[in-house]
Amino acid sequence: MRKKIVAGNWKMNTSVSKGAQLASEIVNKSKEVEGVTLIVAPPFTHLTKVSEQLKGSQVALSAQNCAAEASGAYTGEVAALMIADAGASYCILGHSERREYYGEVDATLNKKLVQCFANNLIPIFCVGEKLDERESNRHFEVVKAQLQNTVFNLGEEEFGKVIIAYEPVWAIGTGKTATPEQAQEIHAFIRETLALKFGAKAEETSILYGGSCNPANAKSLFLNKDVDGGLIGGASLKADDFIAIAKSF
Ligand code: PEP
Repeated sequence: MRKKIVAGNWKMNTSVSKGAQLASEIVNKSKEVEGVTLIVAPPFTHLTKVSEQLKGSQVALSAQNCAAEASGAYTGEVAALMIADAGASYCILGHSERREYYGEVDATLNKKLVQCFANNLIPIFCVGEKLDERESNRHFEVVKAQLQNTVFNLGEEEFGKVIIAYEPVWAIGTGKTATPEQAQEIHAFIRETLALKFGAKAEETSILYGGSCNPANAKSLFLNKDVDGGLIGGASLKADDFIAIAKSF
């Protein structure tokens, strides 16, 4: 079923104790939010501690990435199994920072998708174009290829669980947000693209917007019929802002 979702990507921010405090503030304020799935994605080192803070609350836990392999000699990697064991039920995959700084390509992301599903982690799968791609009007083909090369390989049951996050790279951490019209246009396109492969099931997919979303602009973005919520970076580090965004539907 298509859900309203607001997910916070903490990136490489907060200490373990500050992260636990932030999680506890979010849990307290989450009582003001109804009908929205709230998710926080702290760094790996925080997962167990934050999981304790979230227990019994309506806030779910996500990782920001996972290893492409199940286990073994992969120094510095964290397996999907370990992430699930630490209490997470979601995992962000294919964030543009991973694609750009760590060379994540579609083939790697396909392996990560397999690992997520094998360990009952719901992927929050990111797609989005760079500035030059938008300026040369290639954003539709870029996003379509990102989906065709990855999500299209999922079986129907797996596809039914995946969450898509559209994050234009030019809007991430820049203070520049897609206009509500730009967001709706490409979210509708993403849904149409998914429907080419998965038919009516694409209607059920939650498609989140990400890129400088904040309490001031969330409402106008979330009003659009194909925008089912947000993946929030900077503004997710303040409990008040994160909850204000979740109350913007
Ligand atoms: C993100 O990194 O997923 C993101 C959307 O960041 P920001 O909200 O800071 O632009």
